[in-house]
Amino acid sequence: KFNRKPLIAGNWKMNMDHVQGITLLQKLAWTLADAEHDYGRVEVAVFPPFTDLRGVQTLTMADDLKVRYGAQDLSAHDSGAYTGEISGQFLSRLGCEYVLVGHSERRALHGESNDLLATKVAAAYRYSITPVLCVGEGLEIRQAGTHVEYTLEQLRGSLAGITKEQAETLVVAYEPVWAIGTGEVAGPEDAQELCAAIRNELSSLFGIDVASKVRVLYGGSVKAGNAAAILAQRDVDGVLVGGAALDAAEFANIVRFEH
Ligand code: PEP
Repeated sequence: KFNRKPLIAGNWKMNMDHVQGITLLQKLAWTLADAEHDYGRVEVAVFPPFTDLRGVQTLTMADDLKVRYGAQDLSAHDSGAYTGEISGQFLSRLGCEYVLVGHSERRALHGESNDLLATKVAAAYRYSITPVLCVGEGLEIRQAGTHVEYTLEQLRGSLAGITKEQAETLVVAYEPVWAIGTGEVAGPEDAQELCAAIRNELSSLFGIDVASKVRVLYGGSVKAGNAAAILAQRDVDGVLVGGAALDAAEFANIVRFEH
């Protein structure tokens, strides 16, 4: 897998208030410390709700935790009359290294389009935050057999306007919607097929050098029991975990599979 450092990412969604979030992060850090986890080889990142981020930052600094963190969304704008929105500038000041962009729940429940997501990706780069761009098809599209083209269309649309230099640090997460929170996991071959297709498309867009640096993750009902087979795939550079990231021991077990 060349020099791509695997990324094991946990999306907490709208779970864990600011007190519960600190407890979960502490447990995760301790479990990984007990297992002598090598953060130089495998990166670990969590995506808590916005209201947890200040606490996560404080804990991370105070205890010198090596777990990285990011937000679940950001505004396309920098500041101003956008009630309820959160600027990339604020996230950057809270030490966020990553931000999820275009998670399927944002696309479906908040009508986020590829055009809008391209402006969010640009906003993340303005504040030197690495976007984790989520793409993936729903069940109907999978059944119709057009999932590769559909996913690549999302990829192209959501990356419109980004430069080669920016693309080098990008993370993409392939998350088939039918496998998110359903217990239904795409087979390791399905994950490989799409992650490879994504890398191939990135190569057409930005060149092979860039494409070989981009980390492409798989997400959708990943657990300790199925992580190893998925992570063994050639073009899968990590996983984005939802439900199983809320249990420190389970999540730490997923991290261990990358060793
Ligand atoms: C997700 O929310 O990104 C996700 C993959 O969820 P789950 O692991 O619960 O399917």
